[in-house]
Amino acid sequence: MELPTPEACYRALQSRDARFDGLIFVGVRSTGIYCRPVCPARTPKFEHCRFFSSAAAAQEAGFRPCLRCRPETAPHLASWRGTSTSVSRALALIDAGALDGDGATVEKLAERLGLGERQLRRLFLQHLGASPLAVAQTRRVLFAKQLIHETRMPMTQIAIAAGFGSVRRFNETFRALFHRPPRELRRKTSTASPPAKEASVNLRLRYRSPYDWNSMLSFLQARAIPGMEVVEADTYARTVEIDGTIGSIEVSHLPRHQSLSVTILFPDVRALYTIVGRVRRLFDLGADIVTIDDHLARDPLLAPLVAERPGLRAPGGWDGFELAVRAILGQQITVTAARRLAAQLVSLHGRRVPPAYKIHPALTHVFPTAKHLAMAESIGLGMPAARLKSLKALAETVALDPNLFRPQGTIDNAVAQLRTIRGVGEWTAHYIALRAMREMDAFPSTDIGLLRGIARIDTNCITSANLEQRAESWRPWRAYAAQHLWTADSSRSLHA
Ligand SMILES: [Zn+2]
Repeated sequence: MELPTPEACYRALQSRDARFDGLIFVGVRSTGIYCRPVCPARTPKFEHCRFFSSAAAAQEAGFRPCLRCRPETAPHLASWRGTSTSVSRALALIDAGALDGDGATVEKLAERLGLGERQLRRLFLQHLGASPLAVAQTRRVLFAKQLIHETRMPMTQIAIAAGFGSVRRFNETFRALFHRPPRELRRKTSTASPPAKEASVNLRLRYRSPYDWNSMLSFLQARAIPGMEVVEADTYARTVEIDGTIGSIEVSHLPRHQSLSVTILFPDVRALYTIVGRVRRLFDLGADIVTIDDHLARDPLLAPLVAERPGLRAPGGWDGFELAVRAILGQQITVTAARRLAAQLVSLHGRRVPPAYKIHPALTHVFPTAKHLAMAESIGLGMPAARLKSLKALAETVALDPNLFRPQGTIDNAVAQLRTIRGVGEWTAHYIALRAMREMDAFPSTDIGLLRGIARIDTNCITSANLEQRAESWRPWRAYAAQHLWTADSSRSLHA
């Protein structure tokens, strides 16, 4: 999406239009501060305003984040901006820490995306108005700021959690931006309440309205793996393992704040950003849902579905390997049967959660790692030998290449690479690309649930070739169309 004209941006600012939150940032020349369009402060004069399409662009231009409207709480929509999938992929990699640490360079990042460094810089400038390094730097500052305001974490821990590398660098950055040490920001504006559990951290993650929470929760509930996930009282909880460390999280909905509330109980603060990123992905918080719904509703077939479930999200996978295993377990059997198999797998092969890091008593195990399953002598599940073999092959492939599910090249590359794994066909590859790699144009057109869903609304559209043709106009958001069709066909379906 291109930034609207300055006049249009200014009107959004004057009316504090929440629809532009996360899409527009305004730098105010007279104060040196940048704001969200919904900032409660008095609207600055037009001639003092400069408009940006990302927080990073405002920050790179020398503006510092406002302490009242807190730009770090705007919905993170950047990854859906523009038509550049390279930029989206690069942002995902930056979120995963690709530009943190001393050895990390823009050149290496570009290389992973199959681009030249200059090409990547140019794409960033075009779509975000900021360089990749500025984006990474802004990410650190804004995450640290959120932790300062919303938690009671000590400053030293925040420096580590936000990827500053050292407390000194953290202090210097904040002094340069705010002319005071970070802890003074907390005194001034902290609204943090004491955490429910001593070691836990609670954060709010905003989305762009509307958000169909009920559909999301039903989706997760239908697939929840006993011992590893619990859906109860409008809340989703699960165990997590990051780099060998184990904890758990709990997510609930705060509709009045257009946010999800996330409680994280995890022993290592370095994993916080990763965990938050995964929550955003699982709950699809980055979707510019209004644009997507508008686009899909242009097809008269989909219009009623979109009207029925505005804000329907495409759930992501928590982890690429876990998602791929679920997809294989779910081949040819019902969701319920797949769940039972997954529960067995988790209790046989997953590590136990230490009692101090159980956010819910029913959470007992984490999902097994690829390495563990690759080494296991027997997987011990009652399923056809061919599928057991493909499970094993998947584990071995991922154990050798843990980056298999990172965004890469094009969707066709991703699908082709996944298909080299034994037992992963076109359907499974597209399903993994959609949920795990967040390719929002992935579309498993042979899926039986999709075919049933479309046949219900268009009796002429009964083969996957028909469906594929029909789906052309849903690009680049075919994954959302698929989600609508699956949800419409919610009675019985076959996918993991
Ligand atoms: Zn403000």
